[in-house]
Amino acid sequence: MDPLSKPRETIDRLDREFVSLLAARLKAVREIVGHKQNNPDVRLRDEERERQLFEIWAREADTHGISPYFAGRVLREILTWSRRDQERVLDSRGSTDAGTRSVRVGYQGVPACYSDLTIGKVFASRPIARLERIGFRGFAAAVDALEAGEVDYALLPIENTIAGSINEVYDLIGTRHVTIVGEEVWPVEHCLLGLPGAKLEHVRTVRSHPVALQQCQKFLDGFVGVTAESFHDTAGAAEAVARGGDPTVAAIASEDAAREYGLVVLKREIADHAINITRFLLLGRQPEVFDVRRPAKTSLVFAVNHRRGALLECLKSFDAQGINLTKLESRPQVATPWEYAFYADIEGHVSDVRVQAALEEVRAHTNHMKVLGSYPRRVESERERAQIESMISAVTPAAEVEAPTCPAEPAAPAKKAAKNPNLKLCSLREDAKRTLVDVSGVVFGGERFVLAMGPCAVENRRQMMDAAELVKRGGASVLRGGAFKPRTSPYAFQGLGFAGLDLLVEAGRTYEMPVVTEVLHPEDVERVAESADMLQIGARNMQNFALLKEVGRSKRPVLLKRGMSATIEELLLAAEYIMAGGNHRVVLCERGIRTFETATRNTLDIAAVPVLKARTHLPVIVDPSHASGVRELVIPLAIAAAAIGADGVIIEAHPNPSEALCDKDQALTGDDLSKLVAQLKPILASQGRRL
Ligand code: PEP
Ligand code: MN
Repeated sequence: MDPLSKPRETIDRLDREFVSLLAARLKAVREIVGHKQNNPDVRLRDEERERQLFEIWAREADTHGISPYFAGRVLREILTWSRRDQERVLDSRGSTDAGTRSVRVGYQGVPACYSDLTIGKVFASRPIARLERIGFRGFAAAVDALEAGEVDYALLPIENTIAGSINEVYDLIGTRHVTIVGEEVWPVEHCLLGLPGAKLEHVRTVRSHPVALQQCQKFLDGFVGVTAESFHDTAGAAEAVARGGDPTVAAIASEDAAREYGLVVLKREIADHAINITRFLLLGRQPEVFDVRRPAKTSLVFAVNHRRGALLECLKSFDAQGINLTKLESRPQVATPWEYAFYADIEGHVSDVRVQAALEEVRAHTNHMKVLGSYPRRVESERERAQIESMISAVTPAAEVEAPTCPAEPAAPAKKAAKNPNLKLCSLREDAKRTLVDVSGVVFGGERFVLAMGPCAVENRRQMMDAAELVKRGGASVLRGGAFKPRTSPYAFQGLGFAGLDLLVEAGRTYEMPVVTEVLHPEDVERVAESADMLQIGARNMQNFALLKEVGRSKRPVLLKRGMSATIEELLLAAEYIMAGGNHRVVLCERGIRTFETATRNTLDIAAVPVLKARTHLPVIVDPSHASGVRELVIPLAIAAAAIGADGVIIEAHPNPSEALCDKDQALTGDDLSKLVAQLKPILASQGRRL
């Protein structure tokens, strides 16, 4: 008997139970929707309730020995789906044909192209009986069909996180008689597709849309002897490969396209950047009504008159009403050279009083203005994303510790240093406004205290994944890990280099944390910056000016550590080097200095935190691991850092410290991390801050 058949039977049975449990859960959700439907004052989303659910799941998962983080991700999917289901019920309220309506949607491309796949996603949560998708050759043809009443909607891509805005679509929405009724996002996952039986090494021609070819440039460059050929779309290229029957020809398209045209995936994840998302607009002929409690977005197009400051006045009108602008795009106006149409997306519905007041104001500064539509917002705002993330990771039990009171903003030190005129960019300005440094969604310098944690060095895949899971559970929002290690001895482990960086990035992606890693050589900066979210300049390199200039040219934020014999002034001058190069996202790190004292690895200059805060607007964090070199001192020093007003800490942790290849004596364990969080929480709460 096949040894796998029994466990597989069990899995099949459990999966069936699992699905029926999901259905029962959804039924309960619908009872809640019924209540919300009849009570317009009840909020659609109850964050407190969601937080409780994450806690319940995390606790249950833990008792069953499953990762609470993994459980949190499953719950997130379930909640997303429940919310969409709720929306479907709420949107169908009042419409007589809900559930019986047949809908035709136009798109550009052929079946299984990314637009077609997204149509499936959009209408999965809409109350319709039948969905017909009609592919057109171009964007304009789809809009023509919409205007002529041949289709009910058109779904067109408006922007991509790598390729940018799709100009033709902007021009269409600005000039045609259509209105935006929805938006949706689709994560693009390019694969190399070939005929069944084809071999990767035999491929000689790769076809796809030019943008897709460009997004997989590095993969194609490393693929010797292969020519790339442009095709009008990705799925169309897949279809042509299937029709052609030549096993040396492959296409870049989605896995769904492979299924649609009977191809196989020869290689996955071939895009240069892991994050590749396309945003689509759903266009209709008439505005549509939706529940006012849903977060909305409004798009508009306007042309400013040629007076100085006219555009600024328009933008100020949104700010004055507290309205967030999510996108601004300009397009030339064909009939009037050097005049531009501005397309703006703002948060809020056109019927909101604040939006109306802002638009009234904008009208006064424009020659022309048109609202292109108000529709439910799909792109989560940063705040919402961070909120969900914090629910998943902040499940450590609350501490039962007496809360001391410590101000987060410490009093300026009595002894004021003379102002150094060379600190032009990093000095605290008159208005004392602090800089927030955003590292792929994690903000340093704001009300959240950042925990950047991970192993000293990336050692192997297993260790890195375990370490990432450990620190995520321990409340980390940034993952650290050294791929290039500056070691005092040439015989010590030097790090895995770029292979280590790949492992770090994989772990960061799996546990959804941006990664920070040290870069040692100016010539490596560009390559490290392609995948790391933050570049670390180590203590030994704080005055490597060639390296500082190179990271100054980079677009990635920089974590600048204080040199072990550097003064605070020298640290600031090093930051100035980076900022003078154009990179203003610098976070400073006090990591201990060399003194006559040998009881600890270095001497933590804790006073450097308030001194720096009084002199610079940049965020300041502390590294208690390298400062002390002793596991038992890491938590007390981290607490001291929080108490004195640091913006975060960077801490080393390891799944198995005794076997760490680097800095084993200072690495924290999982138990240490829960103690750390339990002790940090009340201090931060007393300062009005949180993790
Ligand atoms: C590190 O953080 O990995 C490190 C080597 O720190 P430092 O440069 O502060 O010694
Ligand atoms: Mn270390």
